[in-house]
This record gives sequence, C-alpha cells and structure tokens, in this order.
Amino acid sequence: MDDEKDHIKIVFLGECDVGKSSLINRYITNSFDENIPHSTCATYASRKIEYDNKYYTLDIWDTSGIETLRSLTKFFIRDAKIIVLVYDITRKRTFLELDYWLDLILKELGSNIFLILVANKSDLYVNEEIRERDGIKFAETLNAKFILSSAKEITNWSDSFEKAIIDYIKASNK
Ligand code: GDP
Ligand code: MG
Repeated sequence: MDDEKDHIKIVFLGECDVGKSSLINRYITNSFDENIPHSTCATYASRKIEYDNKYYTLDIWDTSGIETLRSLTKFFIRDAKIIVLVYDITRKRTFLELDYWLDLILKELGSNIFLILVANKSDLYVNEEIRERDGIKFAETLNAKFILSSAKEITNWSDSFEKAIIDYIKASNK
C-alpha cells in the first residue's frame, strides 16, 4: 500500500551551515561527514516508519539557506506536513534569522503547520550563544516541539525526531 495520505512531507529550513543536511544524514544513515558539501539545491531522502501497525513514508526535503535560492523555498514547502527549523547554538544570528523562515511558513502554510525546532551542535556547548532555555521558550511560543541535538555525536536526535513525527501522526489521526 502506498497511498498518498501515508506520505508525510517534511522540510528542513534554516540558515547555511546550521547542520540541516548533517541531521538528515544522521537520521537516514546514522553517519556524520565533517566535510559535507554545501547543498546547492533541494535534495530528497525517504524513509519508512511504522506506527500502530501502519507504514508511513517520510518524504524528507533538505533545502539550501543560500540567499539566491531562498525564493525557491516557498515552492518546496507547499504540501509540507512538518517543518523542521534548525539553528546553530554557537551562532546567535541563526536563531534570530528564524523569524524570516517563520514569516514564510506562516504565509505559505498557515499557523496550523506542525513545527519542530532543532537547536543543533550541542557538542559545541562551550561556544554556546543561545541557551537551551531560550530555545525552549521560543518553541513554546510557536507551539513547536523542541529538540536539542548534535548531528556529530550520537545523541537522542534520531529517536526524538521520530517521536515528534509520531506525535504528528497521532494528532492528525484524531
Ligand atoms: P546545512 O548547510 O544546514 O545543511 O549544514 P551542514 O549539514 O552542511 O553542516 C555545516 C557544517 O557544520 C559542516 O561542516 C558539518 O560537518 C558541521 N556540523 C553539522 N552538524 C554539526 C554538529 O552537530 N556538531 C558539529 N560540531 N558540527 C556540525
Ligand atoms: Mg545542507
């Protein structure tokens, strides 16, 4: 069975170099590449998950934060069911810039979209510019799930990400 409604489109958004591609790689292949190439266009990865004896296909879209490609992002987020917003805890600007993406999301998808806020690079906490509690607070105002993670180290990232997706499935089956 590969019904359209069993597909869940998930789009990763955020500034350049926050670790979007690395988080996806960690989730899909459980690997990390220090010299990961810059994404110059949107790329796609897919994975199946099971919940309640049913299979769902995750259609995961990785985007590029490069300025010139931003205008394309609005096409990629159409039909998205889950948006994953990523910032880098060592660069405050990447946190402040989330407002740009949130504006776009609101315009294109409305306020009911399921959001996951990811504070990435937790392994670099000595250089932290955004404290975890500020991330949590911001997630609360957005009604978003919050995940503190590192794509570099083996952390709770993949489990927490999947748990958030299951929460989405539960909420949408109601
Ligand atoms: P993207 O532009 O948002 O897709 O970011 P990338 O996934 O390409 O990562 C940008 C850079 O940050 C790369 O050099 C990665 O190796 C590095 N990186 C990504 N995630 C982490 C992390 O959790 N910890 C550390 N220390 N580096 C990371
Ligand atoms: Mg990338």
